[in-house]
Amino acid sequence: MVPTITLNDGVQVPQLGFGIWQVEPGRPTVDAVTQAFEAGYRHVDTAQMYRNEEGVGQAIAESGLSRDEIFVTTKLNNNRHGREEAQKSLEESLTKLGLDHVDLFLIHWPLPARDDFVDTWRGLEDAKAAGRTRSIGVSNFQVAHLDRLAAETDTVPSVNQIELHPTFGQPELRAYHRDNGIATEAWSPLGQGGPLLSAPIVTALAEKYGRSPAQVVLRWHLQLGNIVFPKSVTPARIRENIDVFDFELADDDVATLSGLDEGEAGRLGPNPDNLS
Ligand code: NAD
Repeated sequence: MVPTITLNDGVQVPQLGFGIWQVEPGRPTVDAVTQAFEAGYRHVDTAQMYRNEEGVGQAIAESGLSRDEIFVTTKLNNNRHGREEAQKSLEESLTKLGLDHVDLFLIHWPLPARDDFVDTWRGLEDAKAAGRTRSIGVSNFQVAHLDRLAAETDTVPSVNQIELHPTFGQPELRAYHRDNGIATEAWSPLGQGGPLLSAPIVTALAEKYGRSPAQVVLRWHLQLGNIVFPKSVTPARIRENIDVFDFELADDDVATLSGLDEGEAGRLGPNPDNLS
């Protein structure tokens, strides 16, 4: 039901997955991920920082799904940068997840003031070579950070997971990704459920297509080629957010939504250049 995107190393990722930032560890995570599997999701986006990897592991174990049916991403915590440390922390994640490998491992934030993301990236290359992750990528990297990886290392990240929604369209990074074979993963694809979903242009398109505002925004991402993992703990919304493969936005409606871009003013999270 969900199409896949082929990454630059040949690994295939379901284009729509399930995000679990701010989902409480333990039972709430197990329940939400279980609901997601029942609704048809096969891709889960977690992080060491979210403290809910054990819940993901429990939901996977209870699901009866085979390992190769599920795509699991986790991300390196900010206090675990460094070549050795990154590999050690991935081993801890694997124990929590109850898995012998993840599908995608990301550097969560570049933390440029520390000047250690290149060394950390070599740790991810090692982890991939050791079979502990099928793919490696980054998150919240700006063009300058990607340029440094290209100049100083041998591996182009398979993905860059960045804040991206119609009100924060990231045209420069998207063009860079396209030119360099990096898949774009969009975090907070629904603008965290804020004013975006009640913007008049979005609600008018929802009415036109007979779908919800969230579904219209998710179609915008999918038609641009972004990988998305909307978050919800509400069963009806979990189902609604994956029920987006039986309609298509017209090209001019995609362009209208792209016109909502507010540039830097549309950013909801931290500017990666300033996070240390
Ligand atoms: P999101 O854009 O997915 O919005 C989630 C919120 O939108 C929900 O809490 C709910 O309030 C609302 N919502 C969800 N479905 C809805 C629906 N159908 N109708 C109306 N409202 C709905 O926000 P997010 O959780 O920030 O982002 C998604 C995922 O991206 C995260 O869970 C996480 O996996 C990832 N993420 C990564 C980073 C990073 O630094 N790499 C940062 C933030 C998020």
